[in-house]
Amino acid sequence: MRLILLGPPGAGKGTQAQRLVEKYNIVQLSTGDMLRAAVAAGTPVGVRARDIMARGELVPDDVVVAIVADRIMQPDARNGFILDGFPRTVPQAEALDRMLHEKKLDLDAVIELRVDEGILLDRVQRRIAETLARGEPVRADDNPESLKKRLDAYRAQTAPLVHFYERQGRLKVADGMAAIDEVTSAVGRILADTMFRSVPPAKSRPGGGTSTLAKSEKKTRSASRTKAKKARSPGATRSKKAKTGSGAAGKAGSRRPKSTAKRAVKGASKRAAKARSVVRGKRRKSRK
Ligand code: AMP
Repeated sequence: MRLILLGPPGAGKGTQAQRLVEKYNIVQLSTGDMLRAAVAAGTPVGVRARDIMARGELVPDDVVVAIVADRIMQPDARNGFILDGFPRTVPQAEALDRMLHEKKLDLDAVIELRVDEGILLDRVQRRIAETLARGEPVRADDNPESLKKRLDAYRAQTAPLVHFYERQGRLKVADGMAAIDEVTSAVGRILADTMFRSVPPAKSRPGGGTSTLAKSEKKTRSASRTKAKKARSPGATRSKKAKTGSGAAGKAGSRRPKSTAKRAVKGASKRAAKARSVVRGKRRKSRK
């Protein structure tokens, strides 16, 4: 499963992504986390990104696209991934489409966590207070000024992705204002519905049948197939005799399995052909 969680800072993407990771055995690819790790490690990318991030602006597209292109090829991402914080611009989304296309991969869903902007400042301030209470360092961009900039960047550069994915027919919306567990349930329902509609049989999928989701889909499908079969033929529980056509019902011919019935028709027409040729032979003889 490959999906994107879309939403402004403070929408709860990280929390929902973590829950999906546990549920579906896939990896969370958060470009924010990757960039913060690069900053902490002092890599060239980190050095380039540090001040931009602290100001609440977006890191250049080419930098982020290169990080993601490399990351999705790692073995742990083979089973699927959740992109959290990427793409953030239309050029990034186009680059993602290209890289997935080249690798013959596709996105299963893009889920927007829709929230009212008014609550975001409150949420981020709460997050800062909780982080401090745990004695952990606060993110350099978790302050009211940077948050305002991040929201401006979201409105100007990321919000257009809603229409981008809407046009592709991929966008699903979950109410990000609901309680965390409710959002999780809504996301779960969206995924179940999306995967059930779009996923071909596990055998024909690359790496098919390995994920937890694929297995549960398979179970649900086979259960509903059995149910449907039973509903179609109330005689499904009839005796073995009747099924093979050797019982009373079988003699009547109406309950014969298809293959037995076909053989019977074939045998009857052979016998008829033989009888016709005998009659023809007799006529020839009597003419002589
Ligand atoms: P986040 O943790 O997703 O809120 O990201 C923190 C910061 O990292 C952002 O404010 C940006 O400066 C930078 N960043 C993360 N993801 C991206 C991205 N896809 N494109 C550009 N900058 C990004």
